[in-house]
Amino acid sequence: MIGIYNQNELEVQEIIFYGLYALQHRGQESAGIAVTDGSSITYHKGMGLAADVFDEKTLERLKGGKAGIGHIRNTRAGERMYANAQPLVTRYKKGSMALVHDGKLVNAHLIRNDLEEAGAIFQTSMDIEVIAALIAKYIDLGLEEALKKLISVIKGAYALMIMTEDRLIAVRDPLGIRPLVLGILDDSYVIASETCAFDTIGAEYIRDVKPGEILIVNEDGLTSIQTPVPLHSSLCIFEFVYYARTDSTIDGISVYMARKQAGARLASEHPAEADLVIGVPDSGTTAAIGYAEASGIPYGEGFIKNRYVGRTFIRSSPHIREQGVRIKLNALRRIVKGKRIVVIDDSIVRGTTSKKIVEMLRLAGAIEVHMRISSPPVRFPCHYGIDIDTSDQLIGYHNDVDEICNIIGADSLGYLSLEGLMKTVEGSGCGFCRGCFSAEYPIEPEK
Ligand code: AMP
Repeated sequence: MIGIYNQNELEVQEIIFYGLYALQHRGQESAGIAVTDGSSITYHKGMGLAADVFDEKTLERLKGGKAGIGHIRNTRAGERMYANAQPLVTRYKKGSMALVHDGKLVNAHLIRNDLEEAGAIFQTSMDIEVIAALIAKYIDLGLEEALKKLISVIKGAYALMIMTEDRLIAVRDPLGIRPLVLGILDDSYVIASETCAFDTIGAEYIRDVKPGEILIVNEDGLTSIQTPVPLHSSLCIFEFVYYARTDSTIDGISVYMARKQAGARLASEHPAEADLVIGVPDSGTTAAIGYAEASGIPYGEGFIKNRYVGRTFIRSSPHIREQGVRIKLNALRRIVKGKRIVVIDDSIVRGTTSKKIVEMLRLAGAIEVHMRISSPPVRFPCHYGIDIDTSDQLIGYHNDVDEICNIIGADSLGYLSLEGLMKTVEGSGCGFCRGCFSAEYPIEPEK
């Protein structure tokens, strides 16, 4: 998500488009931008990557924005449809609003049931529509009170942006599960999911939005409202493992430094007798550099990645589907042949990637393959928006490390311990959710 309130002569639609481009790793299913000229909201959205959804013509139509918000969406199978693309633009009795959401609520279905009982009609399966309905319900209290009431009712992970005709609003949930940052471009405030978007558009980072904080930006400037929060926040640790871009900083911690340190710790927890350390690009590269530096084993490029394959692509025939990882990655025979290889990736989820990686390295002539993972086994589902739905799909839920090693066909397998991973984010001053590794959830899904 990215939003801007224009105090200069900025081309809002272009800034948001390039911001979305920088945030594309957070979702590839749909993209959308809504802008307001101060009195009415215009939007465009569609399925696919930001670069597929927008072209000069569609961006031209969004010119003249006083403020704007953009979103790219990461959905689970079954939810991939245009109706679920964001921003959600809707009318309520005081006018129009456009809304975007990153995360997942744990009680949206209960609120939706209550609202439906009272006669509300929903058109999508998105949490954001429930949020819009609640704001509309409470709006007679005034916008600030309506937002406070909203926060007291919805539970779970949410970084939100709401744009009315004349205001840009951002909200981070009281546990601070998903990241959200505030920056400035000339005199215009910008809010985004990650700092890498600021670097891309030339904005300056100011600070992270605080858990439970509401930011309202309008013609008069920025207002912050702090709502009550629990004693400990719960930033998602998986942001540092995989989700966030390596060049972002979240709640004071550089994702790059955390990943590099994870690699170094992995080297001391699970050393290996080997000739070369390689990473699975791009997710394992930084940790591989850390492992190599700490172990003294040389680092090399063992895989070349096809840069033009996104995280999703059409898998037409079963033969092509089977090739999956191969379409993305190719092992460098000249580099790995005849060597004992340590190969680093950030995580094993279902186990499909690791199995292929080991197979490809052996086919390319590696004599030993030692798999090292810069996070603990993913064993439990995520209730807060990372696409890990049920334990059934997780290789780490059904099997211990030796069994996983056998399944993926490696000579040895070592995962970073949870204590080791938590050391990589020490000093952030915030608490962390590590539910996917330990089943300790800061907020339980409501039945
Ligand atoms: P798998 O093949 O299911 O074991 O997936 C592991 C690979 O997918 C690793 O290379 C990770 O970098 C990447 N990965 C980890 N978590 C996710 C996620 N939530 N969505 C997509 N890819 C992921």
